[in-house]
Amino acid sequence: MTAHRPFNFSAGPATLPEPVLRQVAAEMLDWGGSGMSVMEMSHRGKEFISIAEAAERDLRELLSVPPHFRVLFMQGGGLGENAIVPMNLSRGGKVDVVVTGSWSRKSAAEARRYADVHVAAEGNGREIPRDWRLRDDAAYVHVCTNETIDGVEFHDLPLVDNGVPLVIDCSSHMLSRPIDWSRVGLAFGGAQKNIGPAGLTLVFVREDLLGHAMSICPSAFNYETVAAAQSMYNTPPTFAIYVAGLVFQWAKAFEYAGKQGLAAIEQRNIDKAALLYQALDGASLYENRVQANCRSRMNVPFYLKDERLNDAFLTEAKAAGLLQLKGHKTVGGMRASIYNAMPLEGVQALVAFLKDFEARHG
Ligand SMILES: *Cc1c(COP(=O)(O)O)cnc(C)c1O
Repeated sequence: MTAHRPFNFSAGPATLPEPVLRQVAAEMLDWGGSGMSVMEMSHRGKEFISIAEAAERDLRELLSVPPHFRVLFMQGGGLGENAIVPMNLSRGGKVDVVVTGSWSRKSAAEARRYADVHVAAEGNGREIPRDWRLRDDAAYVHVCTNETIDGVEFHDLPLVDNGVPLVIDCSSHMLSRPIDWSRVGLAFGGAQKNIGPAGLTLVFVREDLLGHAMSICPSAFNYETVAAAQSMYNTPPTFAIYVAGLVFQWAKAFEYAGKQGLAAIEQRNIDKAALLYQALDGASLYENRVQANCRSRMNVPFYLKDERLNDAFLTEAKAAGLLQLKGHKTVGGMRASIYNAMPLEGVQALVAFLKDFEARHG
């Protein structure tokens, strides 16, 4: 065996499973004896149709998606969906948003262009706010279930019991844990955190929410149109769908702690996060400021108590083979994103580095 690649803690686009990257490399010039790269195939040809169908089948199986949900492979990213969701679901009426951090705040601002937006509760980026003031006549309630920048995660989906559909932006923890579909009307996420390359956006939408798009909604972003065309109304991001499909196959076969598939992935995520938070809490040089009951398993922001050490920390981490640990520019500090594809060994290496750095500089 050669030495392993550096461990990459980027928040997104993010690290992918190495076996997937190797398979993509091996199939780059000739997919399945077709004589074509996947990038060169018609999206309507039998080769690509088989790739897309397998990807949807495997994704549905992994997340136990019920039959009355449609799975859409779209483009536009998470921020695109901030406009596409209200154009499809709000009917120009009322939208409630629970602000838990940076991404949900952006979602509220964008939805204001299309709907009457009410912030039902607002947190400080370190906890999930209580006492939501929801409106019974809202078209939907928007929640970001994992705030990538703040590191705040819902460990259980909220129960919205006034009959209003719940929309979740799950970009940065999709496929890291199961989704309770009984509580969700629509879920969306960009692929580049946990699923595959940037350019692919996944949307899961309950069938009864289709067919209400505002007339200004572009056809290519009308969920009903996209669903009717099996996500082939216009050319979908074919290469990204192919890579995502390989990630789904990898996830289905993944084994850890006597478990397989999504259960194994979730267990490893629990163990990785516990290891890292324990190290941060046990150290005197570092600090994570998120309340324990909503700390993200995927994105772990932390601060050095002496911020003058930030540059040295990043330089020495990189030299130790630990990449992209710099925090988001709006909040500063550090952030370790430990998505599905991050091995336990990567977190162990980071923890060892944290201890070593503190011993030398603390
Ligand atoms: C990354 C991210 C987005 C933005 O995705 P783009 O693909 O850059 O538009 C939106 N929401 C959340 C929670 C994210 O993590």
